Amino acid sequence: MSDKRLAVVTGAARGIGRAIVLALLKQGRTVVGLDLNAEQLRQLETVAKEAGYSVITRCVDITNDVKLTETLDGLADEFGGVGILVNNAGITRDKLMMQMDADDYDKLMAVNLRAAFMATKTVLRSMVRNKFGRIINISSVAGVMGQAGSANYAASKAGLIGMTKSIAREVGKKNITANCIAPGFIQTEMTDVLPQQVKDAAMEVIPVKRMGTVTDVARAVAFLAEDESGYITGQVLCVDGGMAM
Ligand code: NAP
Repeated sequence: MSDKRLAVVTGAARGIGRAIVLALLKQGRTVVGLDLNAEQLRQLETVAKEAGYSVITRCVDITNDVKLTETLDGLADEFGGVGILVNNAGITRDKLMMQMDADDYDKLMAVNLRAAFMATKTVLRSMVRNKFGRIINISSVAGVMGQAGSANYAASKAGLIGMTKSIAREVGKKNITANCIAPGFIQTEMTDVLPQQVKDAAMEVIPVKRMGTVTDVARAVAFLAEDESGYITGQVLCVDGGMAM
């Protein structure tokens, strides 16, 4: 029964999102990946197929409220509800605070926090009806510890943590859990662009002395998505090699 639950992952086409899609497919879920870029979504379909699975994709800008809610409502109607929502899509607009302008803040918040709010609000309707839900928000150690040069990003990720805990308190009695994963330094295109000296400095403060992999994060998401993880809610699970402890 549990493997029939529909899982929706935002920012699914590459990086951590792609690994989450594959981990949930491996769990036997029906998985829908949302992303901006149609070409990258086709690549996701190919990767899933090569691994022996089939993923459903939808090309959606999650900052477009109408498109996002129409897509999620349509999926809930088609599949009898959304069981698992992974709010993974996220962007960076790094600058020192004094150089950061309001546009850097607003654009980032629209993707990292507001879209997660809209998506969660929308899927909660079918989760409450079905008395089951797993909301998993991809935060960051930046939201736990702060990060110089990323005040907007850290604020969005800390905001996700507060929102997650609030949702956990609101809907726990409906068998719906809400948790955050806070990745540390994970090897993706987002971190590929960082200067070597930043990467070297990170190694100094990561007890396991390596960057994480997208699979490290995806495994944690898959764990929280399980029916059997229903007694874990309102938590922030750092997948960070011990960096933020
Ligand atoms: P990524 O490689 O940049 O992938 C993000 C995905 O989200 C991309 O496919 C991107 O599409 C998509 N996306 C961006 N804006 C969107 C929008 N408006 N609508 C729909 N899709 C959108 O990022 P990642 O490194 O895998 O990170 C995934 C999540 O983990 C993010 O929330 C990030 O903040 C968090 N995280 C990452 C790390 C890390 O070290 N990598 C650490 C902590 C937390 P396009 O390709 O078209 O832009």
